[in-house]
Amino acid sequence: MKKISCNIIKDVLPLYLDDVVSEDTKNMVEEHLKSCESCRKEAVLLNEDLILPLGSGAQDAEIKTLKYLKKQFRNKKAVVSAVSVFLAFIIMLGTYALLVTPKLFIPYDSTCIKVEKIDEKLYARYIGSNLDGSVARNSFPLEKDGEKKDVTFFYIYKSPWSELRALLQKDTEDHLIFLGNADEIDEVYYGKFRIERPEELSADLEESELIWKK
Ligand SMILES: [Zn+2]
Repeated sequence: MKKISCNIIKDVLPLYLDDVVSEDTKNMVEEHLKSCESCRKEAVLLNEDLILPLGSGAQDAEIKTLKYLKKQFRNKKAVVSAVSVFLAFIIMLGTYALLVTPKLFIPYDSTCIKVEKIDEKLYARYIGSNLDGSVARNSFPLEKDGEKKDVTFFYIYKSPWSELRALLQKDTEDHLIFLGNADEIDEVYYGKFRIERPEELSADLEESELIWKK
């Protein structure tokens, strides 16, 4: 093979090292390097630049670190938002429980709690905006002073939430609570009876107020 000038070899060396040359050029370069120390050195130098790229290696590491940190940050952000959502949920749940759950007994007040007979049915009427709910018991026979009477119990309750709502409301509300058919009830008591313990109703009776009788 003809001796090729070192300048040509040096020109194509980077391409050769990048392995982007034709087979012919490759052979030519390799043939030349066998016999030319100067070009060999040049190739080694170039190769070191390519293979031992301290700079780019450091960059890689930096990029990796950056990527890692970014991922960590993303993970942390995800954790933080998950925790925030969870905490917000707990706070909402707690607020809900505190505002809505407590059933606060509304004491009897003859000015706003009345029993009315409408079309042979008995209703309790409550005038007030803070009502959250009511509890009524079907009439049942009860022995009282040697007499058997059909009595019914009821009471109304409020919650912090209904109190709050009432504060924001200007108009008073009128509530009708159905108690039962008028012919089945002799007496209506207002009191916080224990609906789940019928055997203690006599005791409940003591603490309740007779607010209507036939
Ligand atoms: Zn050469």
